[in-house]
Amino acid sequence: MNHLELFDFTPKELERYRRQIMLPGFGESGQRHLKNSTAIVSGVGGLGGTVALYLAVAGIGKLILVRGGDLRLDDMNRQILMTDDWVGKPRVFKAKETLSKINPDVEIEAIADYITAENVDSIVQRADIALSCAYSFTERDLLNAACVLWDKPMVEAAMDGMDAYLTTIVPGETPCLSCIFPEKPPEWDKRGFGVVGAVPGSLACLAALEAIKLITGVGKPLLGQLLTMDLNRLEFAKRRPYHDPDCPVCSEKAKQGKKQAIELLTTEEKKLLNV
Ligand SMILES: [Zn+2]
Repeated sequence: MNHLELFDFTPKELERYRRQIMLPGFGESGQRHLKNSTAIVSGVGGLGGTVALYLAVAGIGKLILVRGGDLRLDDMNRQILMTDDWVGKPRVFKAKETLSKINPDVEIEAIADYITAENVDSIVQRADIALSCAYSFTERDLLNAACVLWDKPMVEAAMDGMDAYLTTIVPGETPCLSCIFPEKPPEWDKRGFGVVGAVPGSLACLAALEAIKLITGVGKPLLGQLLTMDLNRLEFAKRRPYHDPDCPVCSEKAKQGKKQAIELLTTEEKKLLNV
């Protein structure tokens, strides 16, 4: 998104995005930034699928959707890109198909896998921004570390039951995910927690908006602040998390250490890790 090219919009694009180009501060310049940007969405479920939907309709240039596993019937109360006949098949391909039908101008890469130590660096290097919406903390931590290393902003959105939180991380400027949650909670039960679709949906709209704000420069993103939402009572609060100068992920020392470790790898090892 930093390499602004002089795209000419087609008349169809100008018509499609007319109502957002009208917004004060958005304009054709904001639209061009969106068209120039690639966003990763990790975990394309009730949360990530809705994030991807709003980025696609806004006219993001490219989406990289990362999600392993097949669609289950009990996903259907919240995964709005899916259809009933797709149960049993890989979710991510249906997400790509649905989004392409809604906005064929968006390029979509579907990766039917989870975020892993092996794939994260190559995926993050190909993007301008990441949206962290995966179910597992392991995937979230891997994505955070790679975004810090390769200097990419990350919108972190998570929920549990009727509670949700959101923050926007810009490496070097804000606390990273590891600063905010230094102690890892136990992994959630693989059978899942209780969820009504409108909760991840609400959070997803805010997360997509954070990405749109960062990319276009419209408004003021949630930098260095953690928004917590109790959707049972509709109570919202903002906190300022601690930015740990000795963070094992985002401190200058930790970043240099990881970069040096990558330099010491053999060509074969670099190929294997895609770095
Ligand atoms: Zn940190």
